Amino acid sequence: MAIFTEERLERKALWISPDNYLHVKEKYEIRLDKMIFYAESENRCRSVIILDYFGEESDRCGICDVCRERNELDLSKYEFDLILDCLKSLLAEENRDAEELVKLLDCPEEKVIKVIRWLLDHKKIQPDSDHKLHWCT
Ligand SMILES: [Zn+2]
Repeated sequence: MAIFTEERLERKALWISPDNYLHVKEKYEIRLDKMIFYAESENRCRSVIILDYFGEESDRCGICDVCRERNELDLSKYEFDLILDCLKSLLAEENRDAEELVKLLDCPEEKVIKVIRWLLDHKKIQPDSDHKLHWCT
């Protein structure tokens, strides 16, 4: 036997306005999207994503699995980001092949190639039919 210590409300008393319900549902869906993004994301720092989920901004932590993978490239975060930014702006101008990019960047070739390879692996850039790379948005 169950004993209810409070008066039980009838179902019709538990009414949520449609507007309110939609608002809650929308907020929930945005959070859900962010969680799915976290689970699927392979190239954003975990802690950046988690803090973004709570509405805060932060720098890459340098120690999560994503950051460690970048660290293994043997590039400092500074070098990696610098090369990445240069590649991004060069590819925003026009599609270029890897050789062209290496020539245009004032950085050691092997470092540029490492970043290009990382970007390819993470589908940030993709080759066109004529082997020129384009930035995937
Ligand atoms: Zn990290």
